[in-house]
Amino acid sequence: MKIEEFDVIIVGAGLSGLRAGLELSSKWNTAIISKVYPVRSHSGAAQGGINAALGNLEVSKDDTPKGHAFDTVKGSDYLADQNVVMFMCEEAPKIVIEFESMGAPFSRLESGLIAQRPFGGAGFPRTCYAGDRTGHTLLHTLYEQCIRNNVAFFDEYFLIDLIKANEKIVGIITLDIPKGEFVIFRAPYVILATGGFGRIFKHSTNALINTGDGNGAAFRAGVPMQDCEFVQFHPTTLYGTNILITEGARGEGGLLYNTEGDRFMSKTAPKAMELAPRDIVARAIDIEVIEGRGFENAYVHLDVTHLGAEKIKERLPGIREISINFAGLDPIDELIPVQPGQHYSMGGIATKYKGDFGETDLSGLYVIGECSCLSVHGANRLGGNSLLETSVFGRAIGRNLLKKGLIQLPPLDEIKKAEVNALNVIENLLKQWENNSGKKPVEIRDAMGETMNRNVGVFRKQEELEKAYEDLKKLQKEFLNVHVRTTDLKFNYGVLRTLELRNMLDIAEVTAYAALWRKESRGAHYRWDYPKRDDGNFLSHSLVYRTKDGLELKKKDVILGIFEVKERVY
Ligand SMILES: Cc1cc2nc3c(=O)[nH]c(=O)nc-3n(C[C@H](O)[C@H](O)[C@H](O)COP(=O)(O)OP(=O)(O)OC[C@H]3O[C@@H](n4cnc5c(N)ncnc54)[C@H](O)[C@@H]3O)c2cc1C
Repeated sequence: MKIEEFDVIIVGAGLSGLRAGLELSSKWNTAIISKVYPVRSHSGAAQGGINAALGNLEVSKDDTPKGHAFDTVKGSDYLADQNVVMFMCEEAPKIVIEFESMGAPFSRLESGLIAQRPFGGAGFPRTCYAGDRTGHTLLHTLYEQCIRNNVAFFDEYFLIDLIKANEKIVGIITLDIPKGEFVIFRAPYVILATGGFGRIFKHSTNALINTGDGNGAAFRAGVPMQDCEFVQFHPTTLYGTNILITEGARGEGGLLYNTEGDRFMSKTAPKAMELAPRDIVARAIDIEVIEGRGFENAYVHLDVTHLGAEKIKERLPGIREISINFAGLDPIDELIPVQPGQHYSMGGIATKYKGDFGETDLSGLYVIGECSCLSVHGANRLGGNSLLETSVFGRAIGRNLLKKGLIQLPPLDEIKKAEVNALNVIENLLKQWENNSGKKPVEIRDAMGETMNRNVGVFRKQEELEKAYEDLKKLQKEFLNVHVRTTDLKFNYGVLRTLELRNMLDIAEVTAYAALWRKESRGAHYRWDYPKRDDGNFLSHSLVYRTKDGLELKKKDVILGIFEVKERVY
């Protein structure tokens, strides 16, 4: 079997993996592994922008990192760790200027400064953007820089499992997708940057590759998942396909209407209106539909016609293209049908309480970006803060590790034993899958998506969450007998989808389990049966572990700070 050795292995070539790789490759032999070609990573789909208190507009000249941090903590329904938020917001202006100096072509104001637009839950217009293709722009910029720094890229390699010896990470086992060969990567540090896991839901704005592979691998290695009950449903996804219609559309002045022609946000958020945080707008839309003021009992209208053709073509070209191609309408003179759809995972792989940024309980393993839970978004993420998180913490983790220096790996014979074990596990699994006589992976995957959508959605209640949890336990059992027609490994997407399903089932189960435990409503987690926030019992993070008897949940303290915990009013 092929073995590659590096100082650090990064799994994931989205913004977070690339930013960490760029930093680390200045001194260390750095590998970035990705199951897709790097610039096809999901970061490239990000539309609206990246937040930084630059104060480039006259109206935002009083904006500060502290103001940004306050909005983030309030938006998180006070569940974000305030020290981490403060760091991110202070670094934000520096990271955006750094992108600019690397050549990222941001949209500009008349003054020549980077353009900024209003976004939900923000006190000032602070979202910097490149039209409505910000992620694409930043991803290509970082990829070019990584190539310049001689990062070793392993494209189309699939992470299967982590390898640990003596309670320390020593590497990973991967599949070289085109060759169909297993390859082991050995290193004292592994950084998981594998992105979100929105595809555990049937309807999502996420790419099909967002399957939580890093989360599954970490969970199997004993690392807990944190705050997975908090799932962001973006208020405006295109009715039918659930393709994202960026918050930037409302930031530019887009308005929401029900069947009665009312701007219904005036009832829920009279001040912020369409620019209230996403959890609030998503619920308001669903309420209109539930109470019979939605079109076709399913959606409301987003109106950008008053912005005019010129502004739409300049600032929202992607949204126009999506509307024309996928809904057959031109938003220059027609209304866009929108409904909430799964979009982002606030939770993810748990990081150490008061450890270094991204450090996990497994020595040498770091996590970053959407797969992780650095506790920066708490119970609800503000738009524009995720691109920021990926790059700020990508750089920070890189810098911290370089400072820390390389560490000794356990004795070689221990490592080799662990590698052989990892290989045996996967080879046995493949044999089993081929010999089994149960369901096809796609049947289990569809059932998982259905139950998640139906029972763990925008509004939740005990019976439905119990139903989801029971369904998922049943699907886990069915997965033990899943049948894969051939396990010949060359470009075998049947095997890859099954490996992904193995990860998704675990994370879906954790999500339903944590949502059952949290008997309160906070941020994106709304329960009909517990409609109030309950700080006395639940101002805590959830940590879910897999034990031999099933799942187990523990509480973890929220790191509070200068912002007092209050009711959220917008
Ligand atoms: C449609 C859309 C629009 C968005 N717009 C915005 C926005 O405007 N502003 C904002 O702040 N946020 C936005 N977000 C959120 C933001 O884009 C993401 O959270 C962020 O880009 C995630 O970056 P990442 O580096 O964590 O992961 P990703 O960019 O998803 O990258 C994950 C990487 O991991 C690799 N990988 C995964 N599994 C494996 C495996 N098994 N083996 C090997 N490699 C693997 C993938 O190949 C990929 O390279 C948006 C999200 C969506 C869905």
